[in-house]
Amino acid sequence: MRLNPNCIRLEQNYLFSEIALRVRNFQAAHPEREILSLGINDVTRPLAPAVCDAMAEASREMQRAETFHGYGAAEGELFLREAIAGYYKQHGVSVDAEDIFIGDGAKSDLSNLCDLFTPDCTVLLPDPVYPVFYDTSVMAGRKILFSRGSRENGFLPMPDDTVRADLIYLCSPNNPTGAVYSRAQLRRWVEFAHETGACIIFDAAYEAYIRSASLPRSIFEIAGAETCAIEIGSFSKMAGFTGVRCSWMIVPRALTESGHSLQKLWRRRQSTKYNGTSYVVQRGAAAVFTPAGQRQVRGDVTYYMENAGLIRNALRRGGVFSTGGEHAPYVWMQCPGGARSWDCFDSLLSRYGIVSAPGAGFGAGGEGWIRFSSFGSLETTKKAAEKLADIEWDSFAVFAGGHI
Ligand code: PLP
Repeated sequence: MRLNPNCIRLEQNYLFSEIALRVRNFQAAHPEREILSLGINDVTRPLAPAVCDAMAEASREMQRAETFHGYGAAEGELFLREAIAGYYKQHGVSVDAEDIFIGDGAKSDLSNLCDLFTPDCTVLLPDPVYPVFYDTSVMAGRKILFSRGSRENGFLPMPDDTVRADLIYLCSPNNPTGAVYSRAQLRRWVEFAHETGACIIFDAAYEAYIRSASLPRSIFEIAGAETCAIEIGSFSKMAGFTGVRCSWMIVPRALTESGHSLQKLWRRRQSTKYNGTSYVVQRGAAAVFTPAGQRQVRGDVTYYMENAGLIRNALRRGGVFSTGGEHAPYVWMQCPGGARSWDCFDSLLSRYGIVSAPGAGFGAGGEGWIRFSSFGSLETTKKAAEKLADIEWDSFAVFAGGHI
């Protein structure tokens, strides 16, 4: 047999498996200690009643021959694509239902999208980076370049005129830094994509967390993006679908390369490799956009953002530098005294039982930073925030390696 060398090049542990392993080891050694998780990406609020009711009704439809649904359309059901187009319209963005494709999660979409582009293309990724951008690019055999986020540029890297790439990945609101691009900044990225002939892959998985109308929720708020960008959205963080799985991708009709329509190619790819997201799930997703669904899922987003506020305030009280958490469910903290991310992670875990996500797991640009997630319960977040607020960060000596 011959293995794919690109898979062998992947780092052995996915970041979140390594975090889980360290937490398990700590718990095994200290079963009496309480663990307060501000670490992982997963949500904790249950599904909205409107979503569950719609899925229950859809499963009853499946029980009767007259209303049973077999294979669905590879691009997704029209009722859901129209509901998504309506959601964009509410935010002032005109997207045609024809341009929308339903998927089974943004993670799968990001990975599947690699099929559209030549294996030897060059990708430009932000650093720090959502690990899936990096890993899927490694597995696809891409040449990878980075645009560096830093405290100085607010973790919002801008185009470098000397750099050329075929694909540009942008994530706003950003995982892990919580940073959000302004319209002017996205305009510059769109201009740059046009100047260089690149395609932007815009990950909008956290758009529902933006709380200001002056910040863009979609790349398609920028004129000219329809000829240089693809956008990916997800129901995971906006409506708690992490275990249900549903996402959407916008591939505009106007997006072409050398006379080929990317939308046509994507439709062709999906019709061979995808049989559509489950009908029951799509009914649940459509219910997110009903008035009751919107009220309920927005309530959950508010709940998480209040958690983010507790974390931000706790860190501010202690005088440690942090950013994010304003239009995103992640707070991004600079480790005190120039400490390394994993050492800071270990110290917070062993002294306070607080689980974070080490910035170094998101790329070299994340070294020296820690991410706190607001997806925990209010109770856990409150307890953790009280502990964080009491930390004397100036004298917070970080263990260097292997103290757990
Ligand atoms: N994109 C970003 C930036 C994410 O942080 C996540 C999940 O954490 C995803 C995509 C994946 O979303 P999904 O659950 O739809 O696969």
